[in-house]
Amino acid sequence: VKEEGKNSFQFFKQEMNDSVSRKSRLATGLRKGLEQGEFFLQYQPQIDIKTERIIGVEALIRWEHPEWGIVSPADFIPVAEETGIIVQLGEYVLHTACRQNKAWQDAGLPPFRVAVNISARQFSQSNLAATVSQALDQSGLDPKYLELELTESIIQGASSAVTAMKELKSMGLHLSIDDFGTGYSSLSYLKLFPIDTLKIDQYFTRNIQADTKDAALVDTIIRMAHNLELNVIAEGVETDEQLAFLRQRHCDQAQGYYFNKPLLPADIERLYRLPVDA
Ligand code: C2E
Ligand code: CA
Ligand code: CA
Ligand code: CA
Repeated sequence: VKEEGKNSFQFFKQEMNDSVSRKSRLATGLRKGLEQGEFFLQYQPQIDIKTERIIGVEALIRWEHPEWGIVSPADFIPVAEETGIIVQLGEYVLHTACRQNKAWQDAGLPPFRVAVNISARQFSQSNLAATVSQALDQSGLDPKYLELELTESIIQGASSAVTAMKELKSMGLHLSIDDFGTGYSSLSYLKLFPIDTLKIDQYFTRNIQADTKDAALVDTIIRMAHNLELNVIAEGVETDEQLAFLRQRHCDQAQGYYFNKPLLPADIERLYRLPVDA
């Protein structure tokens, strides 16, 4: 966020290149950060390509440490996973995202979904369904406005994963597969899992223009999704050309810097609040 944050983050990286002490300091920092309220969420709009209207936002966690500044989720999520702190962190994200989305609806924004990232450990270890239903109850958010983004890595425990996903689906939530195509899993899970949406990873989107094979893959993923009656969203859309390609191939939705970076709640409200007497 701030320039100062950037510098202290560089410092933090150099200081912590010993991986064991780095991990334990991060773990301590994470626990303390949860107590001290150092975490917050940003929300990135997801746009319907045909209508160019917002259909949802993805909640992305942010951590501003008092000395280290902004620490990237790419750096702390893996440590949170390894240490199990992800369970508490995930509860914070679910509760905050549900409460925020209900607040937007109460403030008169057009209703859209909020998508929450669920890591593999969070999915397999915590009582996710209970946490989700608590977050829904306490916020008053209609379950159809909550989406969970799962990655292919949850497939490891295939049969129990299907049971858990069915339970979540029966609550009325929307389920998506994040980073689709980057795991090493077989495609057969697509017919077993009760999912609604495939998210095309930004790695593929990025190379649509430069690499004809990536373009062919994106085209194929979109067709496959539609043949399976799944919705498909492309992430990491940054350019006109990428959007034009996706539109031509009938990709349903897009998310990326071309539309918006992840935003604070007040900015989402400014962008999408309807005129009072429209
Ligand atoms: P992800 O779920 O694949 O999230 C998309 C990432 O791409 C986000 O990075 C987002 O800011 C970034 N992004 C969005 N549009 C563009 C674009 O047009 N170009 C480029 N270059 N990047 C774009 P972020 O916020 O740093 O998050 C990184 C990863 O950390 C996420 O990847 C996700 O795996 C994890 N993460 C973030 N928040 C949470 C959370 O609340 N819980 C869990 N379990 N993981 C989270
Ligand atoms: Ca995601
Ligand atoms: Ca993703
Ligand atoms: Ca990713």
